[in-house]
Amino acid sequence: EAPNEENLRSPVCCIMGHVDAGKTKLLDCIQGTNVQESEAGGITQQIGATFIPTDNIRDRTKELKADAKLNVPGLLVIDTPGHESFVNLRTRGSDLCDIAILVVDIMHGLEPQTIESLNLLKMRNTQFIVALNKVDKLYSWKVSPNAPIVNSIKLQSEDVKSQFDTRVRDVIFQFKEQGLNTELYYKNKNMDETFSIVPTSATTGEGIPDLLLLLVQWAQKTMVEKLTYHDEVQCTVLEVKVSKGHGTTIDVVLVNGVLHEKDQIVVCGLQGPIVTNIKALLTPHPMKKYRLKGKYMQHKEIKAAMSIKISAPDLDHAVTGTSIYVVSPNEDLEHVKEKAKEPMESILTKIDKNGEGVYVHASTLGSLEALLEFLKTPEVNIPVRGIGIGPVHKKDVIKAGSMLEKKKEYAAILLAFDVKVKPEAEEHADDLGVKIFTADVIYDLFKQFKAYIDGLKE
Ligand code: GDP
Ligand code: MG
Repeated sequence: EAPNEENLRSPVCCIMGHVDAGKTKLLDCIQGTNVQESEAGGITQQIGATFIPTDNIRDRTKELKADAKLNVPGLLVIDTPGHESFVNLRTRGSDLCDIAILVVDIMHGLEPQTIESLNLLKMRNTQFIVALNKVDKLYSWKVSPNAPIVNSIKLQSEDVKSQFDTRVRDVIFQFKEQGLNTELYYKNKNMDETFSIVPTSATTGEGIPDLLLLLVQWAQKTMVEKLTYHDEVQCTVLEVKVSKGHGTTIDVVLVNGVLHEKDQIVVCGLQGPIVTNIKALLTPHPMKKYRLKGKYMQHKEIKAAMSIKISAPDLDHAVTGTSIYVVSPNEDLEHVKEKAKEPMESILTKIDKNGEGVYVHASTLGSLEALLEFLKTPEVNIPVRGIGIGPVHKKDVIKAGSMLEKKKEYAAILLAFDVKVKPEAEEHADDLGVKIFTADVIYDLFKQFKAYIDGLKE
């Protein structure tokens, strides 16, 4: 499809940053969870994401720019803030996240996880906007709830303005040290080369209109090609889970195209491609009282961009972070199966041929790839014997334990990136002497592992 400004899908956005910078609070603020359900302005809670319709954005930003031309239907914000692995998610070769919000606490500046997030964004070439959060913490800040940030700053005393200027200058300098040009968005003349900073307060809502408007305007201006709606299904598995009354389901983000009930789909599975038919397309019930009971709305079809729970037979071994394929009537199923299994096969080539090394688990295929890449770099150089996606189970510990006699230093080591370890697995690991390292940040895993190896050598 030719790029078409009049036929855009909603951009997919994720929120990143250091712990306590205010990611969750910012998401709450964007969702308007502090307002009554009836007043939430069409915002709908989706599966693993929140959909903010353009009407809602227009309404919230009218004080800022009443005549803004917004071409996208809305913004789909991924719900688990700080889940760095979302930036690793891909959909048919392109990134799932179109744009990210990098949250920085104005009182702390850049922190280790801010830098980790930044490196991921750079590596992925993902566009992002900096939310310089907690401006209300500046000493004697005067609050104007939900106001555009420039209006709010105008009302501050000279002293507050000068605290603000100093902190902004420091943060810009810190970004510069990371090799990035940044500037307050309302002073930014060249958004192609200079990343924008939006001062915000997730507590008072100040700067949130600016953030929403900038996200939408920038996305629709610079990503027309990527955001042009087309019929080819682009859909990524976010999570595989058992859902009451539906068996094992997959939560997906449908980035492009339309999914229908009964569609034949192919999903990448741990043991090969899974061919199945969509039994139900589910979204959370719009009414809270039903939602709380775990009731879903069922749809005949759903158009992108949206997040959906798919119920279908045989999804138990579906791999998070891979694309799903719809088999159209004139398509060769074997060919589709080849495409669907490709990401898993590419991962398997990274495993040590001699069968020596650690076991590695990650929450998604994308994070697993990132972790494997990292382990392969010369400075790190840790061989990998086996992989897993999703929680660490007892059987994984048993497999890792088989290394105990061969090579103790890697042996029995399980690196879990951003995943849960089942209690039985943990118990069994203790019994066997299998070390399990877990962390949400790749670099932390490496540090822990290195300390352990050094300890063994002594
Ligand atoms: P996360 O770890 O990045 O998700 O951070 P949270 O959203 O949990 O926020 C950490 C703490 O900072 C919480 O106590 C929030 O209430 C507080 N917080 C977040 N944003 C703001 C803000 O803009 N202003 C103020 N004063 N506090 C905030
Ligand atoms: Mg949080």
